[in-house]
Amino acid sequence: MELEHKGLTGKVIWPFDPGYEQARQEYNRAIDAYPIAIVYCYNNQDVANAIRWSEKHQVRVRIRSGGHNYDGYSTGTGKLVIDTTLTNQIEVDTINDVVKVQAGTRLRKLYEVLYEHGYAFPGGTCPTVAISGLVLGGGIGLSTRYLGLTLDSLLEAEMVDAKGKILVANQRCHPDLFWALRGAGGGNYGVVTSFTFQLKKKVDNITLIQLQWNNNRPARLKFLSVWQEWLEDLDRRMGAFGRVYKQGALLLGFFYGKPAEARKILEPILSIPGITSEDIEYVDFIEAVNTIADIYPKSEKFTDTGRFVYKHLSKNELSNIIEILDHAPSDYNSLIKVYSLGGAVSDVPKSETAFYYRKANYILDISSSWEENHEAAINKAWVAEGFKYIKQLTFGSYVNFPYSKLKDYEMAYFGQYVKVLQNIKSKYDPCNIFSFPQSIKPL
Ligand SMILES: Cc1cc2nc3c(=O)[nH]c(=O)nc-3n(C[C@H](O)[C@H](O)[C@H](O)COP(=O)(O)OP(=O)(O)OC[C@H]3O[C@@H](n4cnc5c(N)ncnc54)[C@H](O)[C@@H]3O)c2cc1C
Repeated sequence: MELEHKGLTGKVIWPFDPGYEQARQEYNRAIDAYPIAIVYCYNNQDVANAIRWSEKHQVRVRIRSGGHNYDGYSTGTGKLVIDTTLTNQIEVDTINDVVKVQAGTRLRKLYEVLYEHGYAFPGGTCPTVAISGLVLGGGIGLSTRYLGLTLDSLLEAEMVDAKGKILVANQRCHPDLFWALRGAGGGNYGVVTSFTFQLKKKVDNITLIQLQWNNNRPARLKFLSVWQEWLEDLDRRMGAFGRVYKQGALLLGFFYGKPAEARKILEPILSIPGITSEDIEYVDFIEAVNTIADIYPKSEKFTDTGRFVYKHLSKNELSNIIEILDHAPSDYNSLIKVYSLGGAVSDVPKSETAFYYRKANYILDISSSWEENHEAAINKAWVAEGFKYIKQLTFGSYVNFPYSKLKDYEMAYFGQYVKVLQNIKSKYDPCNIFSFPQSIKPL
């Protein structure tokens, strides 16, 4: 198809441009899409022009910031990708404790700039995830139980809508859109170009926790069993992610307090026999953030999805999960992951934002990654099989850990909010300009 440049502004990369091969990549290298072009926007006008251009040329758009969507919903073959990467300014207002962040900002930079001013931030753990996808779907990390979801700190969002108009959404202007953006905003209502957050906490040192039971299969069942008991009355200053794999288990955590107190709180976990590495240290907040961030590769090939757990799982159910792991294709890269919730997440009234699953205890996730393309099928099949079982134990899926095989995905991500969200979609994007395989449909 011959398409004219005219009307598209920003840095536009076409398939015949030398940078195209790099520009079409997502973090998940198992996604292999060929967009019609990628437009890197410098400002709201470039975004508006891209939306109008796509309408004129009957080309569908996809919105991309960090490109970390598990299933590649920020790109697509034959689509125009509107990419916000080049907008990454951060303005900190230390008088009012607020920060304005442009859409393409990656988490490592955000954490670092905020920490220069002494602030903690409740973001996620991967340094290359962009603020946009993270906050629009929720935002879960090791500070979440103490400071809330990333979206709980959001005061305002600026968005370019389906007509190319700039809207500001907050509690007073477009409150319905503001509500929807906090939990269901990823790719659905328009291109959000900046976010303003309340900064809740000044910080210096925290306790960073890294524990592992490697080559210790018996620790796995014990870990999952202790984990759910431990979360029940857990001090909200503690947040943790756990991973259980074929050969063992590990736990990463932040505690907003001193190591001695952290150790006391961690007692049930530390008493799981056969620990192979135990690191509990008092470090700068930013060192803690970067130590966890450095665990992530620059890119990988994977399939991954996560669901909300509300109930205690029985010993039998936990044993079944371990059995799933025993059949995993990889010793170390096929994982059952757990992410702590509760604390500040469940304090916020459920109806306040479109994040439906506030009262869950934790997220239970299954994932597998691989190196060679020929390994994709076996890894995907393992996740698909394991997911069938995990789905029975859980209630709803985290939209930021999406899964293309989910049936009735709107219900799974947004529960009883689906109708309201569809109504808001009809109001702000009646022609469904912003759509992708698991987008919210207008009524
Ligand atoms: C390695 C890894 C680690 C992760 N760790 C965590 C974690 O600790 N906690 C957590 O909560 N999540 C985590 N995630 C999930 C992550 O939050 C989501 O993948 C998130 O949506 C990624 O945002 P992005 O902007 O980087 O990705 P993108 O793929 O660019 O976008 C994700 C979705 O948001 C939409 N979108 C992007 N930018 C905009 C915008 N400006 N306006 C409107 N819609 C937009 C896209 O269309 C797409 O649907 C992780 C993901 C990966 C791959």
